[in-house]
Amino acid sequence: MEINICILPGDGIGVEIMNQAEKILDRVCLVFGHDADMDYGLIGGAAIDETGSPLPRETIDICQGKDAILLGAVGGPKWDHIDKSIRPEKGLLGIRKEFDLFANLRPAVLFPELRSASLLRPDIAEKGIDLLVVRELTSGIYFGMPRGEEMRQGQRVAYNTMIYSEEEIRRVARVAFEAARRRNFRVCSVDKANVLDVSQLWREVVVETSREYSDVELSHLYVDNAAMQLVRDPSQFDVILTSNLFGDILSDEAAVITGSLGMLPSASMGLKNPALYEPVHGSAPDIAGKDLANPLATILSVAMMLRYSFSMEREAQAIEAAVKKVLGKNIRTGDIMSPGMKQVGCSAMGDLVAAEIG
Ligand code: NAD
Repeated sequence: MEINICILPGDGIGVEIMNQAEKILDRVCLVFGHDADMDYGLIGGAAIDETGSPLPRETIDICQGKDAILLGAVGGPKWDHIDKSIRPEKGLLGIRKEFDLFANLRPAVLFPELRSASLLRPDIAEKGIDLLVVRELTSGIYFGMPRGEEMRQGQRVAYNTMIYSEEEIRRVARVAFEAARRRNFRVCSVDKANVLDVSQLWREVVVETSREYSDVELSHLYVDNAAMQLVRDPSQFDVILTSNLFGDILSDEAAVITGSLGMLPSASMGLKNPALYEPVHGSAPDIAGKDLANPLATILSVAMMLRYSFSMEREAQAIEAAVKKVLGKNIRTGDIMSPGMKQVGCSAMGDLVAAEIG
């Protein structure tokens, strides 16, 4: 089968970590007998330097014909003071909009080998974390109209609108139910239905959609309770489905309790290809070009890509198992280093994981 993708390294450590992603893909192709067709494009600061735009038309055109996009990271101090309308981050927002990537998938996994990095009490971390937050990404309060600031009765007021159509809820709910079918068949929908009308509709539509997935167990939590449960006992969760605002907060909370930014992959998907896969972390300008970056978040993003865009479950599991094996041999990059471990650079980590595949 052909793995037909576009690679957008972006800025900072983007190039280094994408080199490791390629190593992994080459190895997967060799071991499992696939072909990889990889094209490259510019995004973020690198694209601004070259073309004046953070998301050049040419990049969109290259991505258009692909099944998936693999992105490094964008941004850095070099572009912090340029015109707001062409900031590197606009490239990221632009690509999400261009391909209508309405569902953001962020797994939070605590590898047993990295338990000591978790911010949770040891007896809670002991139970493990392996959950997936599915966040609606293109609607809700961040985009709802009307929005703005104005004078009312002599004082400034400001407002945003939290709005969802039933179709917007249904399509992201389906992504969550489908994801649960690849995992442990449980979805917990998070809302604030005791207070918000929009959450009442959210809950109704999620319940309706669940009828298409009778093999998946559905539960509901209010967002305040969900935030507490995530630190009290994250092991209870499989898939968490939620709206844009709640998902923004809960996915960061779920990420931080694992303690390792360099280990967290993500996916953003729409109704059709290409989907976008990227590490959660940024371009880490402080360590860029020094072979210090942890490539594992990117390597795990490759696993997600093979699982969700190419239905290559065996290949995805082989990558995840290879990461575990390397960690099990007490090999670490600097960011996840602890006493008694062996420290390696970005490139060596890529080589070691690739060698464990197959
Ligand atoms: P960051 O995630 O880049 O870095 C935060 C800290 O974590 C830094 O100390 C960095 O060295 C470290 N770190 C991050 N990834 C690492 C890795 N793979 N291995 C080892 N250490 C790692 O966040 P920041 O410093 O707030 O932002 C830097 C730039 O990245 C900014 O321009 C910001 O706008 C951008 N950013 C981009 C994205 C994205 O492209 N998705 C996300 C967040 C931030």
